[in-house]
Amino acid sequence: MRNKTESATYLWFRGGFSMRQSPEMNKVQQHMEPGSLSAEGFLGEDTRNLADILREDHKTVDDLGLTHSMIAERMAYFSEKGKMGLGKPVLVDALYEVVVEDYRGSISCPFSDDFHAGKRNTTLRHLGKAKEISWTELNIHMIKEHGFYEGKGAAFRLEPLEIAQILEL
Ligand SMILES: [Zn+2]
Repeated sequence: MRNKTESATYLWFRGGFSMRQSPEMNKVQQHMEPGSLSAEGFLGEDTRNLADILREDHKTVDDLGLTHSMIAERMAYFSEKGKMGLGKPVLVDALYEVVVEDYRGSISCPFSDDFHAGKRNTTLRHLGKAKEISWTELNIHMIKEHGFYEGKGAAFRLEPLEIAQILEL
């Protein structure tokens, strides 16, 4: 791992490319099923086990020369800027339009670390590329702390390559 400041909880996955599905991961994966913490769940149509999902996305991020923290911090940057618009679009760095919408309630992190994210959605439009991407507060946390971008087909699945491109990382 390049980034020495990678968080302690993320080190749970220090197995990196050789990480294997553990009983602990099975438990986490159960929390990701539909109807456990969220109606839709976090896995979409993905039938892989959690270790494989994490390993593949970790490889994509690593191949890009990035870390999960770098991606999450850039996402948080735009969410912070967008909050100032109180639901209206905010122009950021003359290149992005950001809309942040707040909803009531919170959602627990499926990794059982007692983290509760406010229900807040950020939509980022890259004006130059005419591309748009959306994420939640929980996405930022799960990427930063767990290297988790959700399963393929999940409502808030983020493709690491796509998000790196739109964030210009
Ligand atoms: Zn967490």
